[in-house]
Amino acid sequence: MNTIGVIGAGVMGTGLTQDLVRHGREVVLVDRDEQVLERARETVERFGVLGRLSGVQIGPDYAEHAARVRYTTSLSDLKTAEFVVENITENWALKKEIYPVIDEVCDERTVFAANTSVISITRFGNLTRRPDRVLGIHFMNPVPFKPTVEVIRGWHTSEQTLEIAARFLDSFGKRGIVVRDSPGFVSNRVLMGTVNEAVYLVQEGVASAADVDELFRSCFGHTMGPLETADLIGLDTILYSIEGLYEGFNDAKYRPCPLLKRMVDAGLHGRKSGQGFYSYR
Ligand code: NAD
Repeated sequence: MNTIGVIGAGVMGTGLTQDLVRHGREVVLVDRDEQVLERARETVERFGVLGRLSGVQIGPDYAEHAARVRYTTSLSDLKTAEFVVENITENWALKKEIYPVIDEVCDERTVFAANTSVISITRFGNLTRRPDRVLGIHFMNPVPFKPTVEVIRGWHTSEQTLEIAARFLDSFGKRGIVVRDSPGFVSNRVLMGTVNEAVYLVQEGVASAADVDELFRSCFGHTMGPLETADLIGLDTILYSIEGLYEGFNDAKYRPCPLLKRMVDAGLHGRKSGQGFYSYR
């Protein structure tokens, strides 16, 4: 696998590109927004210094590899990609438009991995003529710092595709834990339910965001509480994910908290917007 296609240059697509670049991989990074791509270029290039300061191993040729990343708004540039990871906004209406296009553009052997928080992987496979070569890889954020990922086997995903994905992950130091397809898989079914309940606690005035998080850090030994985690993930992504669980299970227990909806409507998307449950300005 020489060229890796990464679709979506937001939090996850940029983090994944940084990690691939530091392992010397060729990356084509696609986003529909030129400005986002420009920001991604700066973030990827800066990681040569910032990553090292944060204790991540960065080789002497990082800048050279980073300069070779191709930033583009055209999915047609994925023609040479041998493995594609899709990381666009957690929205089925947007995501479902991508797969038939890349199915046309890419070689029939290319494997497609959906990096989604909650959407069923089987739905993505069925948008292509290669459902056996589609799987889910739920990367963790920030990607260069998280060695373990959740690998999701869709209804049609073949054993060979799981092996190719394992080799791909191994090539940049990641280990996958394979789970069956179900909305939210394992990690986000638990995490999103916890975050949603934590937002209800703040809405009801039972505790402040800081006190909710402090309880999780001090009593359970978590490095971050649920609301700090929500800010890191992005409150918009959290809301879409909880809505996805609600739709996926048709179960009222996944009803998104109204305070979360109001914060997203107000543009409080967490760290990436400078304000969420905490301020980052
Ligand atoms: P984000 O909002 O930071 O970025 C999404 C990017 O997708 C944006 O740059 C947007 O311009 C781009 N985009 C939207 N529609 C597009 C299209 N049609 N073509 C090309 N680009 C398009 O989101 P994110 O946090 O990077 O999340 C991406 C995916 O990864 C989501 O499915 C999310 O659920 C999942 N995920 C997120 C996290 C996290 O912590 N943020 C963790 C694991 C998985």
